[in-house]
Amino acid sequence: MQFEAFNPYTRILVIGALGQIGTELLEELRNRHGVENVVAADLRKPDSAVGPFAQLDVTDREQLRRVLEEYKIGQVYHLAAILSAKGEQNPVMAWDINMQGLLNALELAREGLIERLFWPSSIAVFGPLAPKDGTPQHTVTDPTTVYGISKLAGERWCAYYHKKYGVDVRSIRYPGLIGYKALPGGGTTDYSVEIFHAAVNKGSYTSFLAEDTILPMMFMPDAIRATIELMEAPAEAIRVRSAYNLQGFSFSPEELTKSIQKFLPDFTCGYEPDFRQEIANSWPHQIDDSAARGDWGWQPEYDLNSMAEVMLREVKARFGKAVALGH
Ligand code: NAD
Repeated sequence: MQFEAFNPYTRILVIGALGQIGTELLEELRNRHGVENVVAADLRKPDSAVGPFAQLDVTDREQLRRVLEEYKIGQVYHLAAILSAKGEQNPVMAWDINMQGLLNALELAREGLIERLFWPSSIAVFGPLAPKDGTPQHTVTDPTTVYGISKLAGERWCAYYHKKYGVDVRSIRYPGLIGYKALPGGGTTDYSVEIFHAAVNKGSYTSFLAEDTILPMMFMPDAIRATIELMEAPAEAIRVRSAYNLQGFSFSPEELTKSIQKFLPDFTCGYEPDFRQEIANSWPHQIDDSAARGDWGWQPEYDLNSMAEVMLREVKARFGKAVALGH
């Protein structure tokens, strides 16, 4: 597929840039387009700012408008949200932030202030009645968390703004994402990152999901590449304007433990499921991403073992104490 070149006369804005995905997406976009062309925005202030940064509450539309105008923004990656586990602790706040932020971005895109918008959805749009294996692109969506409800409503708003106003909005239903550059922000799959930090520093971990809980997951480099490839694909190739299913690989905590033990044979994992188990039980095991593969050429690169090897090496180098990694 022929991907489009980025228009150098407009800048990119990443909202939620200090989060788990934003940290890595920002780095990759700045490598590609130059630091000055990619503006970071977040509610929080960074510990140290490299490159342009705007402190922004995305639920405030006029504040967002000012940032778009000041920095001459063309493309927006709107990542700010309250995640699945955290959302259950304050459902109304999660709904307000997740919906108002998206509606503000869509409205400003409708006004012409954003040429192209990325907003992530999640496998949380699926609920207990959706098929668990090979979950289709279009199927029953009966989410049981406020997070999933907000993502499903968000998908419908994206499709609506595209159909009614021609807004160029693109979206992916991310699976659980595993990365080493930033810690996760309160999701149901956070165990899959915490386990690497515990493996490297303590040699043991207690999972808050049961050993046989299989969920769709993805290594962050694949997720970042997918996001940018979707945004660079020609508009006519994008036939799903709600959000694309995206599958990397699926595993249970027990399978992840076995993969870590290939490199750290003494590592042990216990299981004490908490409230997040119920959320995980309502999600698919493995989803069908043939629409993403067919429309814009999506192909994952990593599998469970290649991800685990890189995670252990990088977590050890960045955060580790002296634990030897062997085969
Ligand atoms: P995160 O919690 O790590 O980061 C979110 C960032 O948004 C934080 O830095 C936070 O300070 C910022 N933020 C919160 N409220 C804000 C506001 N009102 N205005 C501006 N900034 C605000 O989340 P993440 O894991 O990086 O996820 C990013 C997006 O991807 C979210 O929409 C999330 O739902 C989606 N997603 C993530 C995963 C995953 O596994 N991480 C899976 C599926 C979907």
